[in-house]
Amino acid sequence: MMNTNQIIYGLAAAPGIAIGSALIFDPVAAVDVAVSASHTDEVDRLNAAITEVDAAIAALEATLRDVGKVEESEIFDAHRMLLGDPGLHDRAISLIVESGMGAAHAIGVAGEEQAIELLSLDDEYLSARAVDVRDVVGQVQRRLTGAHGLVERLLFPAVVIARDLGPSDLMSVPRERLLGFALAAGGLTAHSTILARALGIPAVIGLGEEVLHIAEHTLLALDGTAGSVQIDPPAEELARLRGAQADLNARTQALRADVGLPSVTRDGTQIALVANVATPVEARVAREWGAAGVGLLRTELLFLERPDLPDEAEQMALYAAVAAELPNTPITVRTLDVGGDKHLPAFPLPHEANPFLGWRGLRIGLSRPDILLPQLRALLRAGANADIRIMLPMVSTLDELRQARALLEQARAQLTAEGLAQSAYPQLGVMIEVPAAALNADALAREADFFSIGTNDLTQYTLACDRGNAKIANLYQPLDPAVLRLIAMTCEAAHRHGRHVAVCGELGGDPAATALLIGLGVDELSCGSSNLPLVRAAIRAAHSGECADLAQRALASASAADVRALLG
Ligand code: PEP
Ligand code: MG
Repeated sequence: MMNTNQIIYGLAAAPGIAIGSALIFDPVAAVDVAVSASHTDEVDRLNAAITEVDAAIAALEATLRDVGKVEESEIFDAHRMLLGDPGLHDRAISLIVESGMGAAHAIGVAGEEQAIELLSLDDEYLSARAVDVRDVVGQVQRRLTGAHGLVERLLFPAVVIARDLGPSDLMSVPRERLLGFALAAGGLTAHSTILARALGIPAVIGLGEEVLHIAEHTLLALDGTAGSVQIDPPAEELARLRGAQADLNARTQALRADVGLPSVTRDGTQIALVANVATPVEARVAREWGAAGVGLLRTELLFLERPDLPDEAEQMALYAAVAAELPNTPITVRTLDVGGDKHLPAFPLPHEANPFLGWRGLRIGLSRPDILLPQLRALLRAGANADIRIMLPMVSTLDELRQARALLEQARAQLTAEGLAQSAYPQLGVMIEVPAAALNADALAREADFFSIGTNDLTQYTLACDRGNAKIANLYQPLDPAVLRLIAMTCEAAHRHGRHVAVCGELGGDPAATALLIGLGVDELSCGSSNLPLVRAAIRAAHSGECADLAQRALASASAADVRALLG
């Protein structure tokens, strides 16, 4: 058992504080291995249970679709595919027939084999799918054994502790009873994590087996921002946490009240405040937080979670679904940005000595038109009914922009020849995330329709500092004057040619940097939805004259520390 006042740390998966008693949820604990008289009976029982679960998932999927929750409904569509997988079914049948297992036991073993195979692929996205397999298999087992699912267990408001949770668990329980959840396993890109963020459920994941040893009904304080779970906190700590929780709720409410206010400085300069998203659910949350569009739609998710490449229609459906969440606003979609540390199961990348300096981003797209061309076609087609803007990642040279534009023209000509509707005036922009692009921004600005500065990579490449390497994290400073000078050069070049400049890297969502970025000449800030209210407040508190002074002083600074001191 765990000690009073012990704190365990995991990964911060979804922000917020949850205080309540622990409910330990172990969906497979009660699997009944009793076997019927004949194998045929067990096979029939299994088939009947699978049919019932499939019908239940189909009903949930249809309900979600009816209320416009397209993204969530797609998760359950994927679940039905997993459930209908002949490999899973055949393996379970052979375990019943050849090894004499009961139906619940057999489907559990077959599912676990698949889950372990997915986990062994050493791919974050496929590993996350192991949870989905366990989720559907758990539902079949519960049908067979009468064991309880989360919805039957969660009869009072509680902080749920589990090894892992599937999306169906989250969607099946009343929101007010699920105060938060703490998982021994879990992934930051797992569906349950994405849903928790979208639904505002505080969550900490990756806590390790230790968390499963917490006694049921123990009082817990879960901090989804700090990534911690405190066990039976003392009274004064509890009071502090309740105060923080109340502050957070009050702040959220107050910021919600400002959602409709324009993102304009005190002296009337308009700054476009838009969101970074990857899914329609996130786009909906962005709308709720007052985003004026999407500044960066990362398209990788659609490619990463599957063994094959998504076709044009599927890609078009994603872009249209995101645009439908934020109608009549610009939706800036980045073409596929894999390579570096992001791999596609459908097309494994070769081993490279320096992958971040290698075959990544647009470099892959240009050498694999079979991947980039369908994406451009999908973007143009989605653009027939929405303001879709196309953005190219990892551009280093003007020649790359020209090659991409030639491919875009090819896509346009194809669609015209096929008589398919498409964007009337597609905008083609360039991400500025390689120092060469910033230094050559004048030439790029003559031919690009807009710029968006990816400060995450721009910092990494300017300071020659791997953004994911904790050993050199002290070097990784987006506020380094070297990075700021590249941002200033980019803005000056863009404005000389009448182009607008966005920042879509993490710096764009840092309210402490908002005034500085405005002073450097940035026209648009794009960030995760949770940062939108604070950035909006920072824009509204700023004055463009003061911002310009601040920028001049920052550009004249000698170090990131000096710049931080200026920002206060
Ligand atoms: C960036 O590099 O700043 C950026 C927005 O792209 P990503 O973080 O996806 O590389
Ligand atoms: Mg980048």
